[in-house]
Amino acid sequence: MAKFLIIQNPAAGNGSAENYLPEVISAIERLQIPYVLKKTAKKFDAQDNVKEWVTPDITDIVVVGGDGTLNEVVNGLYPHLKPIRLISTGTGNDLVKNLKNHTMDNLFLTNEFNQIDLFTVNDRIGINALGLGFDGEVVSEMDEKDLKINGMFAYMIFVLSKLFKFRAPRYHITADGVDYRGKYYITCVGNGMAVGGGFFLTPKAHIADGNLDICLIRDIPMILRPYYLIKVILKIHPSDKKVIYRQFKEMIIRSSRQIMGQLDGQLVTGKDFVIKLIGEKLHIVSHKH
Ligand SMILES: [Mg+2]
Repeated sequence: MAKFLIIQNPAAGNGSAENYLPEVISAIERLQIPYVLKKTAKKFDAQDNVKEWVTPDITDIVVVGGDGTLNEVVNGLYPHLKPIRLISTGTGNDLVKNLKNHTMDNLFLTNEFNQIDLFTVNDRIGINALGLGFDGEVVSEMDEKDLKINGMFAYMIFVLSKLFKFRAPRYHITADGVDYRGKYYITCVGNGMAVGGGFFLTPKAHIADGNLDICLIRDIPMILRPYYLIKVILKIHPSDKKVIYRQFKEMIIRSSRQIMGQLDGQLVTGKDFVIKLIGEKLHIVSHKH
């Protein structure tokens, strides 16, 4: 007998998780599935408390929030993962771009879960993507300014404001034993295809193929930055000579200075990042409003 734990982050997507909750509850009640509801009150609530919230009778977790909320839930549960039914109501909603969009009723009834890869970045689990440097500065500024908009447009404002200001860090990267050294403007590891609400930096990525994709864009002169931004928007950058695009299973990224990054939209900082695919798969189905 199914019993759902609903974890809702009222702050996700500038409150869209909150607006959407009544519809979720009424669907679950109409389908007569028993549930308990937990709302998060602050950052890392879901991660810190999910183990306690998952009583032995809970079979599935319904996440009403963004990629960051899901990241917290998975980090809090691991290694005792549960099937996830995700209602994606975040700012970026990048993970669901890789998954089938179920109707609300089907989301709660289906047992045909996607089994997607998971990876680690040092001691954290990642689900969709890790972006170092540029992405980190964008997310950090977004967290600070808190504009009340969602989607790619929200990110675009900050991408444009950072485009000329960002200084590419110097890296030494080892991917499955192959070394890359240099200054990279973009350093993005994708399990999924997109970051930032719809920038397909790793457009060849597949969420369940047992590989991670990396896109490195070498440091580019100011004047060429808008050109590369357009190339990325059109998804035609992987073949560019300034771009290194490949797949790997294990990677070490060492930066010459302390840098910011984003893991599933959440800010991370550091100098050395060890990135590995892990064996376990996440069972997930999703719905995007
Ligand atoms: Mg993959």
